[in-house]
Amino acid sequence: MRPEASTDDVARVADLVRERGLTPQVMPGTAQTAIAVMGVEGRAVSAALKGLAGVAEVMQVEQPYRKAARSAHPEPTVVTIAPGASFGGEGPVPVIAGPCSVESEAQIVAAAHAVRAAGAVALRGGAFKPRSSPYAFQGLGHAGLKLLALAKRETGLAIVTEAMDEEGAKQVAEIADCIQIGARNMQNYALLKAVGRLGKPILLKRGAAATIADLLLSAEYILAEGNPQVILCERGLRSFDATVRNLFDLTAIPVVHQVSHLPIIADPSHGTGRRDLVLPMARAALAAGADGLIIEVHPEPDRAMSDGAQSQTPAQFEETMRQLRGIASVLGRDLATLRTRAA
Ligand code: PEP
Ligand code: MN
Repeated sequence: MRPEASTDDVARVADLVRERGLTPQVMPGTAQTAIAVMGVEGRAVSAALKGLAGVAEVMQVEQPYRKAARSAHPEPTVVTIAPGASFGGEGPVPVIAGPCSVESEAQIVAAAHAVRAAGAVALRGGAFKPRSSPYAFQGLGHAGLKLLALAKRETGLAIVTEAMDEEGAKQVAEIADCIQIGARNMQNYALLKAVGRLGKPILLKRGAAATIADLLLSAEYILAEGNPQVILCERGLRSFDATVRNLFDLTAIPVVHQVSHLPIIADPSHGTGRRDLVLPMARAALAAGADGLIIEVHPEPDRAMSDGAQSQTPAQFEETMRQLRGIASVLGRDLATLRTRAA
């Protein structure tokens, strides 16, 4: 409260707090009175309190994301999408790789074999693509999901693929081991709630203009539906510098580890937009403590229907994996190896 606040002002604040079902604790000081508000929905009353006479400041003591907060769950959450592919904690670090989009049977199967041979544990590839332009390739849709299922049967790789709406998410859940929510949909709250009810691991990518708190609040939507299996992903932020597609915020990795128990992986492909920058930034992300990586790899990047410029060739990905093993060993860790086989 302000130093000049009257006892009536203090009483009005305490009354409002009680009316909202919360408990006020009035703490008179020599110069100012402080009022602690206790109860689960303290946040909901803060806007109303700000407008009352005599109030100097309303401060939030607890983090707004409750289930995602480290304080709610001191041990790291480990999300397992397939045998050998566990994200979080101190175990071996999984790498997800594959093309931006599923384009054809030949393309996705070739990509799957290449990334499997190099040591990836999961195949990525979008069947439903959130493109900035409505005229750009939108993905193969359900046919693309079938091709991912085929690539899984042929290689044993786990599948990570994006859903853009509730109906698509149900289709994706039938074949995927992990449902990706893209940067553009990070704040699609209806979609977050829907995937929270599907009971599948979720890869939640940070929006291009989202704060770390925004990301964790979006994760909270999924957790609040009873699905604890959330993997966060840093994929770069919109910035003023056109040298790179995005500004890859690797600081988010140790920060998320401080404030949350959820695993966070890094996407140096979207994070940079440039194939020549993927390797150095993949090394940096792993060194920063990433719980995994997701890397775009295309059998023929120059022919890719989306994100070719940032897609590695199979040979580049093999070299990336070799160097990542070196970084992991410096950290006293290993890269994960898949424990499933082709069907
Ligand atoms: C993707 O993974 O291909 C993709 C669309 O990523 P983002 O949502 O991070 O842009
Ligand atoms: Mn892409």
